[in-house]
Amino acid sequence: PAPRVVIVGGGVGGATTAKYLKLYAPHVNVTIIEPKREYQRPYGSSEVITGQIELEDIVISYDDLKTRHGVEFVHDTVEAIDFEAKQVRTAGGQRLGYDRLVVSPGVSFDFEAIDGLNAELAETRLPHAWDAGDQLLVLKEQLESLPENPTVVIGPPPNPYRCPPGPYERAGLIAQWLLDRGDTQARVVILDPKNGFTTDYTMLHAWNDLYDFNIPEPARSKYSDEEWAQLTVHDNPGPIEWVMGDMGGRILSVDAETMTVEAEAGSFQADLINIIPPLKAGRIAIDQDLADDSGWCPVDQRTFESTRHADVHVIGDACIAGAMPKSGYAANSQAKVLAIQLKALLAGNDPVEPVFQNTCYALAGNTEVGMFVADVFRLDGDTIARVDEQRYLPFDATETEYRLAALYQHNWMKAFTEDCFS
Ligand code: FAD
Repeated sequence: PAPRVVIVGGGVGGATTAKYLKLYAPHVNVTIIEPKREYQRPYGSSEVITGQIELEDIVISYDDLKTRHGVEFVHDTVEAIDFEAKQVRTAGGQRLGYDRLVVSPGVSFDFEAIDGLNAELAETRLPHAWDAGDQLLVLKEQLESLPENPTVVIGPPPNPYRCPPGPYERAGLIAQWLLDRGDTQARVVILDPKNGFTTDYTMLHAWNDLYDFNIPEPARSKYSDEEWAQLTVHDNPGPIEWVMGDMGGRILSVDAETMTVEAEAGSFQADLINIIPPLKAGRIAIDQDLADDSGWCPVDQRTFESTRHADVHVIGDACIAGAMPKSGYAANSQAKVLAIQLKALLAGNDPVEPVFQNTCYALAGNTEVGMFVADVFRLDGDTIARVDEQRYLPFDATETEYRLAALYQHNWMKAFTEDCFS
């Protein structure tokens, strides 16, 4: 009989694995179990909040996977995995047997880490909007109803988390939105547990130019003395303030009633609060013992087979993949490697030596100003390591280069979606 591969989650990782496995090994029976009838992409979703795109623009159909590639779909939620019987059970009561199981359930949110935050508040007054869906619209509406010259607090999560430049891009987009509305005295305060982020070198510099942003002194070490001397110190700084970890940026608690955020640095009164809680692997991976104490899933980084349960592969945001970030690009790259490995393993062959790539694009806020880091990864022993230098835009990048990077970002978004889902 044809080998059976069951995939939990029809997001970036699951969809790409299904498509490429069908391309490489058409005889394999591939079934995705996914509750949603249509996918909403989290990547690029902050632009829904600031109105560059609509919610419907991030909706992706599964039709091509079904009709063009012959991927079977069960629209249901996986509730349990029986590792002995090699079966998954869904909330709707179905049981599906597998030869190999792929789990790509994305992330879940650790609300308990921040006092005053919970899942219900995230749907209403304190949306994180970090997993697409209606929270984006809640946040959009909150933004649009803000009083003149408001204070917005953005709380990026601690490492590791999905989309490393994402919270800062969102801060920039919101600052730009407020400036466009004519709010010259607005504040966008980033309360950060960390002292750095992917693309910080370029992003902070771009903000220094675009938004009269003052780069905090503790970030000085990111620049050479010569570069630091070229940055501007603004007497009347613009909207964005970055309270780094070393400056007390870590958030301790939030009060939705009084709209107050307590951080190590003190108390912040806000008109809009967008805290992204610490992240963990998707619920199903934690409940089914695929995650370790870190909250993420350890895998053999050559095949993504779980080190806790045989014949189960975890990819995407949920897995621990060495130096690879938690991004859609990375999930897609892992999925393509996994499809090759599954074909080999199902035929009783040895897995191949993998190579991975990732590019993280980000916008400064002004959507015509972009930046990126691009990396290649290989195994170093048992761990995925970066083998190519990160390539940020250089310090002296021209306006055209920044514009080009923004163009790359928007075109990548389209081509990437097609690569995963069409
Ligand atoms: P997901 O794509 O989240 O898919 C998980 C799927 O699993 C979901 O469809 C879910 O419904 C399903 N699922 C969960 N549990 C179950 C269950 N029990 N049973 C069945 N199905 C289940 N990445 C980039 O590369 N570039 C970017 O520019 C970028 N920008 C971003 C901007 C923002 C604001 C955000 C939030 C993210 C961004 N990302 C970006 C990150 C990217 O979206 C994720 O890294 C990527 O979606 C991860 O893929 P995944 O397959 O791990 O999870």
